[in-house]
Amino acid sequence: MPYDTQPPASHFINGSYVEDTAGTPIEVIYPATGAKIATVHCATPAIIEQAIISARQAQVAWAALSGTERGRILRRASDMLRACNHDLSVLETYDTGKPYQETSVADATSGADALEYFGGLAATLTGEHIQLGENWVYTRREALGLCVGIGAWNYPTQIACWKGAPALACGNAMVFKPSETTPLCALKVAEILHEAGLPAGVYNVVQGMGEVGQALVTDPRVDKVSLTGSVPTGRRVYAAAAEGIKHVTMELGGKSPLIIFDDADIENAVGGAILGNFYSSGQVCSNGTRVFVHKAIKEQFLTRLTERLSKAVIGDPMDPETSFGPMVSERQMRVVLGCIEKGQAEGARLVTGGGRIDREGFYLQPTVFADVTDDMSIAREEIFGPVMAVLDFEDEDDVMTRANDTEFGLAAGVFTKDLTRAHRVAARFEAGTCYINTYNDAPVEAPFGGSKNSGVGRENSKAAIEHYSQLKSVFVRMDDVEAPF
Ligand code: NDP
Repeated sequence: MPYDTQPPASHFINGSYVEDTAGTPIEVIYPATGAKIATVHCATPAIIEQAIISARQAQVAWAALSGTERGRILRRASDMLRACNHDLSVLETYDTGKPYQETSVADATSGADALEYFGGLAATLTGEHIQLGENWVYTRREALGLCVGIGAWNYPTQIACWKGAPALACGNAMVFKPSETTPLCALKVAEILHEAGLPAGVYNVVQGMGEVGQALVTDPRVDKVSLTGSVPTGRRVYAAAAEGIKHVTMELGGKSPLIIFDDADIENAVGGAILGNFYSSGQVCSNGTRVFVHKAIKEQFLTRLTERLSKAVIGDPMDPETSFGPMVSERQMRVVLGCIEKGQAEGARLVTGGGRIDREGFYLQPTVFADVTDDMSIAREEIFGPVMAVLDFEDEDDVMTRANDTEFGLAAGVFTKDLTRAHRVAARFEAGTCYINTYNDAPVEAPFGGSKNSGVGRENSKAAIEHYSQLKSVFVRMDDVEAPF
């Protein structure tokens, strides 16, 4: 192994790496080879206690700093993340299997953007003054306290930063639990934040599976839970948080529609569909996996799609030329293979792909099904792999109804040259994040999140501030108090 992937210890608490080998071991597997690259241990109750106590203690002094002081540390961490981009991208590739070609531009860089953006906003967070005649009210924007972040495995660096940056900017402390599948990257984020000057205890990482997440979510000392994960996990976590009346942000799954009208620029539409289905081997929550293509251009679309997919460079994720890597784990590969089998059994037409790639690691072929109908499971269930379902349509009203006929509402996209139609369609989409003539952009300046079962709250942008802070109203009377007796 040319790169040391074994962290000094499993957890990062109160400014240091901490170990407790009594916790269940988690073997970290490099998805491109199946080789073990590190071992960490699940947090024991003693580790969880240590993390919560450190975070609560550190939060008070952190919130007492000015926003400018907090922001300076976050922006310094952002610069350090960018300076380490190569090493962090290599680590992200080992953790997830995503090609270096992607990780070098989409992970630590996106995390750095979040730290820079929220570092910049920190100094601008204020309450307001409300005059009531001679009397008045002012509001204070205050931290929530201790926020728990729980991550999925597809973007471990980005998720650690997208949750950490707004939480810290608002004066909260965080305990972050990465997915057990990708435990390495968040530790680096914690280490860099600490080196940038973050006081010990403000950002902590503990490893573990669902039970560790559950222990954090149900702890009465935790004020907020931000989860990125599947809808079933979201339901459990939301219910547990509700028990303690905790604030929540839920970034959950999707089965998003991408509508391609017959006047669309076909190359751009194919490009959007590729980005929305095969980037990160399809392991992206907002993917547009139900691709509705107008009947008049369907065969042309499928021909160009197949031609362009044949140009994917599938191979060693560390090779900068590689553009398509393995699935994150053997388990996820088997889940996706099961979905592909179902698609075939349900009668969808397999246009390309459909199986494993004959090499070590957890590689699947980019797979496209055509003639998919709305009732097929591949058109209804989130697959979270490189499987595109192409459905036909002819009428705008009809396709809108079908596009919205889903429990999910994370994202939606439309390709058309008719701008009036594009905005009409965007307005009718029941989804939190919509795209016109593009797909899957996620700049930190824009709110990101889902409607319906895909989530609650928004990440990124100024909107995230509302989810990591609370307002206190202070009433001030200048004249005498009038009491009835
Ligand atoms: P899971 O829902 O399986 O897990 C998400 C996280 O929650 C993991 O860290 C998991 O721990 C933890 N967890 C599981 N059970 C509990 C519990 N009862 N209490 C607290 N925490 C728990 O999702 P995946 O990791 O498989 O990620 C894929 C899913 O995430 C997809 O549905 C995808 O759409 C969604 N996602 C959503 C995004 C968004 O922004 N909307 C972005 C990325 C992914 P562990 O796995 O270690 O057991």
